[in-house]
Amino acid sequence: MERILVTETLKKVGKKVTVAGWVANKRDHGKITFIDLRDSSGVLQVVFTSDLQKKAADLKSEWVIEITGEVKERPESMRNTELETGSVELQAKEVKVLSKAKTPPFALETDGYEVDEEKRLKHRYVDLRRPRLQRNLRIRHKVLHFMRNYLSKEDFVEVETPILTKSTPEGARDFIVPARLQPGKFFALPQSPQQYKQLLMVGGLEKYFQIVRCLRDEDPRGDRQAEFTQLDIEMSFVEQEDVLDLLEKLYITLVKELFPEKKIQKTPFPRLNYADAIKKYKSDKPDLRKDTENPNELAFAWIVNFPMFEKSEGKGKWNAKHHPFTKPQIKNAKEITKKNIGDILAFQYDLVLNGNEIAGGSIRTHEPEILEKVFEVLGHTKKEIKEKFGHLFEAFEYGVPPHGGIASGLDRLLAVLLNEPNIREVMAFPKTGDNRDLMMDAPSDVSKEQLEELGLKIVKKKK
Ligand code: ASP
Repeated sequence: MERILVTETLKKVGKKVTVAGWVANKRDHGKITFIDLRDSSGVLQVVFTSDLQKKAADLKSEWVIEITGEVKERPESMRNTELETGSVELQAKEVKVLSKAKTPPFALETDGYEVDEEKRLKHRYVDLRRPRLQRNLRIRHKVLHFMRNYLSKEDFVEVETPILTKSTPEGARDFIVPARLQPGKFFALPQSPQQYKQLLMVGGLEKYFQIVRCLRDEDPRGDRQAEFTQLDIEMSFVEQEDVLDLLEKLYITLVKELFPEKKIQKTPFPRLNYADAIKKYKSDKPDLRKDTENPNELAFAWIVNFPMFEKSEGKGKWNAKHHPFTKPQIKNAKEITKKNIGDILAFQYDLVLNGNEIAGGSIRTHEPEILEKVFEVLGHTKKEIKEKFGHLFEAFEYGVPPHGGIASGLDRLLAVLLNEPNIREVMAFPKTGDNRDLMMDAPSDVSKEQLEELGLKIVKKKK
């Protein structure tokens, strides 16, 4: 018999059906045994009486079973309003064990916050059966699907960019990958597709987006992951206003369609100058909610007019506040002088939501002289600029449209929308704070042969 999902039993009262899933729970009441059967759609109460009770006696938590039986309407007084299928139950007639299971390492009926997180990560495949994580991944899928549809309708093209690439500065350390065919050389994994998306603008794409993994080898700090997902966008022939407008409309529509229970505190999103935000809130990602106890309140705000450069710690050097490709608010390179470096503003913008930075971007410098000057301020010699970014300068010699874009951190956005305390709860297979995958046991050793092939030697760090 064809298997149906447990929630489909609602339309099958009086019929014989087959369902399959995991034993979520078993209750023995003497003459009758109940099993809650869980599948991807929900949970269904299955009733075992007479002979079949003996079979039910063997079944244990998380065994995978198939049950054929008759769907019965429950009497009014026996309905369970907490279950979607609470108005029906299945009277079991046949049971088949599809696979046995060890006792699960932790309980699955709870929301799981009380379980040691390392345990959950080690057995993530079990943890994922939890209704809360099922909901999170399904809503994550809906959000990604919405974004793809929305941007496609606006004529954006999703383009995949390389994972094996060259360093692009986003302010973090690169993950590097040895290149076997060019011994001694390394690829960098992308901290973002920043340069590729700009090169796509030179390539005439005009409206690009990508739901993309970014990799940044940062020291463990708070709620971060070395690999995370961005909605990455770039547009040609636009000004700051166009980028803000696009993202603002996208988020307002997304909340309306997928999270109707949420209330956006203010539209259009309020805008704050960076300097004013720092002065007033001592933060460039202020939480502007009126009522922080209310989980359905969304306070979006744009932070604009960031400084182009900021002093790097200690050495009297300058860093780009966003990244070097950001356009300073100047007309020509001569306007950048030693004296005014700290005062120059940039066409940079961040979107904050309830105290989290959920997107950041900028209009880009497409004039080579200004770009070169920016790199100089950041302490690069002419030779270094050529080595590291020569490809971009060269591309800009072949007709570059004015362009700009933004990238939005999807994990953070989802954590806020799903009222989750951290981004690991909205990712299928997150890593620990010190970047280990406890389930796969990665990173792990490689063989001597692999190292030899790559011409690499491991030197133990002195403690
Ligand atoms: N590449 C930038 C980032 O990852 C975003 C952007 O400027 O578009 O933060």
